[in-house]
Amino acid sequence: MSDGESIKIVDAFDLDDELRSLLKPGEMVRDAENRRHRLPRYFYEVPSREAAMDIRMTPHFGLNEFVLVDLREAPRLQEFPRYVPCAVRVLAFYLEQFRAAAGASVHIAVNGGYRSPAHKMAHAATPHMWGTAADIYRIGMTILKTQDVIEKFNEVAEQLTDDITTYPYGHLTGSTVDDHVHLDLGYITVVPREISEDRMEVPQESRPRFAFEERRRRDRRAPVATSTED
Ligand SMILES: [Zn+2]
Repeated sequence: MSDGESIKIVDAFDLDDELRSLLKPGEMVRDAENRRHRLPRYFYEVPSREAAMDIRMTPHFGLNEFVLVDLREAPRLQEFPRYVPCAVRVLAFYLEQFRAAAGASVHIAVNGGYRSPAHKMAHAATPHMWGTAADIYRIGMTILKTQDVIEKFNEVAEQLTDDITTYPYGHLTGSTVDDHVHLDLGYITVVPREISEDRMEVPQESRPRFAFEERRRRDRRAPVATSTED
């Protein structure tokens, strides 16, 4: 009955050895302050570049915008099907609110969305490995590389909700920023309602665990005006 699209959700323990070794589902990693965090287990499987372009997470953000990486990502993870933690949809929702508050389009940098634990920029755990961080390099026509604009948009993001953290302006890689706005929601993991959680943290090759998440709107690009009737 739904006119939406569906996205396949996989339990990363059921992916092949190479993918499992790159995505490290359920493994503990340490952040720059030596705190430990458990990596996500449930991922959207993106079958093709066209699918990544077509899947809208919100009216103004497509899934493709969160998976743009350069050669610093592991080669296997640059191939389709691609994998992105399910929490990316929560990030997209917050970015949509941020876009409205900023009053202009929000452009995510290459390597500025999801980065796997195998990505060469992934020295310590950051929410980028959870799909819950975005590096924004441009808002409307404004390139974010000066202290005044970075501080202005950090303020816009932090005024929106305590759920968002930004990095202050500065030149220390990993904790400050001087050529983008970093915005994250912390280490959120999402277990989609469609999948059945399983205690077995080993591959289930004979019966791989997956589900399909229905996206309710067919075209989030063009939100229709609400009807005058209710
Ligand atoms: Zn960042």
